[in-house]
Amino acid sequence: MSKIDWIQEEIDSLKSQGLYNNIRTIGSPQGAWLTVDGRHVLNFCSNNYLGLANHPALVAASKKAADDMGVGPGAVRSIAGTMSLHVELEKRLAQFKGVEAAITLQSGFTANLATIPALVGKEDAIFSDRLNHASIIDGCRLSGAKIIAYEHNDVKSLEAQIQEHAKNYRRSLIITDGVFSMDGDIAPLPDIYEVAKKYDILLMVDDAHGEGVLGKGGRGIVDHFGLHGKVDIEVGTMSKAFGVMGGIVAGKSVIIEWLRQRGRPFLFSSAMTVPDAAACLAAVDLLEDSTQLVDKLWDNAKYFQTEMKNLGFNTGASQTPITPVMLGEAPLVQQFSRELFDVGVFAMAIGYPTVPQGKARIRVMNTAAHSKDDLDKGLEAFKSVGKKLGVI
Ligand SMILES: *Cc1c(COP(=O)(O)O)cnc(C)c1O
Repeated sequence: MSKIDWIQEEIDSLKSQGLYNNIRTIGSPQGAWLTVDGRHVLNFCSNNYLGLANHPALVAASKKAADDMGVGPGAVRSIAGTMSLHVELEKRLAQFKGVEAAITLQSGFTANLATIPALVGKEDAIFSDRLNHASIIDGCRLSGAKIIAYEHNDVKSLEAQIQEHAKNYRRSLIITDGVFSMDGDIAPLPDIYEVAKKYDILLMVDDAHGEGVLGKGGRGIVDHFGLHGKVDIEVGTMSKAFGVMGGIVAGKSVIIEWLRQRGRPFLFSSAMTVPDAAACLAAVDLLEDSTQLVDKLWDNAKYFQTEMKNLGFNTGASQTPITPVMLGEAPLVQQFSRELFDVGVFAMAIGYPTVPQGKARIRVMNTAAHSKDDLDKGLEAFKSVGKKLGVI
């Protein structure tokens, strides 16, 4: 027995359970259509909600920035200084979101790792929605605080947990995803805010799937619910609707200032690259100029979801362009995804541990890049595969 044999056994076990993730290779820019493993297919997978990942304005901005300023930030910002481009991006993001200040990180994942341990530690408690994203969970674990899960989107459960536990800790923090990425449902943020206010607890929302999607012109979940100035910390990403890469934390100046002193991925990892920062600035320009892309995204999502229901599919409890097609067991979902691919549609199977056992699904991501004709082609493919496999 070699000391790595167990790894092959684990991998084989994933394969036999239908849980092994086959990562496909993309040979084209992101868009409504992709070249995947050499085939031209309709793209129903990406988080490129607004089609910005290959938008000419973002591409031009990143090229120009590379010409003017190079590609890399050189070092950690707190050691080697920060580039004016990053400062400008943070100012513009704060204005866009209607907050006092913002800080950018390398990704949404590191934004959570930076923020949570800077705000709570060993003597503190975190009240966390049971279905929060993995990066929130990892940030919570890193902080050393006691993690107290409450039932998904259940404000009564949150309040009961606070009543029972908060008194035993120095400080507390409530954390929820804004939009839950596997079901597409939205956190009841106004009610959560009322609880946070009643018990005087810091409130943080991770708006990765709401940024560029919810609110006026994509200003996010806080704008969607009119909660400006009430949610203490908004974490977000520029890897989804913004089409690029990079994390955001937005909120009161004092919190952002603290993250510049104590956010470990800020202090010990270099900044976003120059072309990324410039492309994100161009994305903010586009979103401030017009709501057209956000409107198209929502029109597409409503059309697709209505037609899927008419075909007899169960699209779960989504309130956003994320469309889970609930199918149940992982092997069926994997087969469904393969059959879709055979008829020219790229839509990923999602199974355990990303979603609970028995709740495997195909997740369709609608975007503003799709035309109505694209959506009709996708619907036709779902219909034929659904009939073939006896799902509808
Ligand atoms: C996607 C996602 C992240 C990670 O964002 P990246 O910028 O890709 O690292 C964090 N939180 C939530 C809720 C997400 O959906």
